[in-house]
Amino acid sequence: MIIVLKPNITKKAEKEVLSEIRKLGYQPHVMRGVARTVIGAIGDELTHHTLETLTTFEQVESVTPIQKRHKLVNREAHPQNSTITLDNGTVIGGAELVVMAGPCSVESEKQLMTCAESVAKSGAKVLRGGAFKPRTSPYEFQGLGEKGLKLLAKARKATGLPVITELLSENHATLVADYADILQIGARNAQNFQLLIAAARTGRPVLLKRGLAMRVNEWLLAGEYVLSNDNPNLLFCERGIRTFEDYTRNTLDLSTIPIIKSESHCPIVIDPSQGCGRSGLVVSLCKGAVAMGADALLVEVHPNPAEAWSDGAQQLTLEGFDQMMRELPPFAEAAGRRL
Ligand code: PEP
Ligand code: MN
Repeated sequence: MIIVLKPNITKKAEKEVLSEIRKLGYQPHVMRGVARTVIGAIGDELTHHTLETLTTFEQVESVTPIQKRHKLVNREAHPQNSTITLDNGTVIGGAELVVMAGPCSVESEKQLMTCAESVAKSGAKVLRGGAFKPRTSPYEFQGLGEKGLKLLAKARKATGLPVITELLSENHATLVADYADILQIGARNAQNFQLLIAAARTGRPVLLKRGLAMRVNEWLLAGEYVLSNDNPNLLFCERGIRTFEDYTRNTLDLSTIPIIKSESHCPIVIDPSQGCGRSGLVVSLCKGAVAMGADALLVEVHPNPAEAWSDGAQQLTLEGFDQMMRELPPFAEAAGRRL
């Protein structure tokens, strides 16, 4: 920590600060400048009491932490990229760009099977589909629940695609983990820490969406809940944040790709569907994300978006998804990846 003292303070006031720093378990190093004094407090900020309380001292101008608050998701803790290997041999975070695709919600056997077979044929490696849906209104379709999970298991069996689905409640952790290959923590629950812990403890890989108003640092710390609960398989997923702009449903922050890549060793996934809310923009956003080095994409695809029970406006058609998959390879290659 760096503690800057106010100018022209008395020796006694300086001493008070020094003794408080020692009391909290740090070693103070005083640097006396022309105008003011700066103290470097040496100690492990993650295990010691925080020195931020020093700001309550009248003679202290500022206290700046040096260490990052997240240690396990941090690249310093794990310089190599982490990879996540799924049952079908797909590796996320490696040389291959992984595309996860499927409907926003599981609606029926026919809808899911048609979609799963088609996206698998087009080259998707993971099937997405919500069985428990976090809907803004309680009057909207809430998902098929366990029936939806069973349909996902059926689709996995038919296509060989591992499944990603949302875990909405701690109460469902075991149930959802029984069916899912990856647990999705939705944007609305990104800082539901008990849910994150429950998800981590199932042992399944966890895909953590960025919250609607979440700062990168908060997102990294939320991810820390997964890693610190003995689950190394964490994926960060950018899905747009809320800004003043309302042309798109959210503002997809593609800058998080290089940011997460430099801050963390965990894979970064881009969800352009929730990100923009308009199917017409999804392909361009995917191309951009891939070119920028995203490890995976999470894309909503529906056999008949016009009749979707949720998020119809943002879902690609089966043909639209197939076309996109044909257009992606040069972008993947440009980023040093294969599709
Ligand atoms: C979804 O993937 O359908 C979804 C609800 O995601 P988010 O939590 O990002 O809104
Ligand atoms: Mn959706």
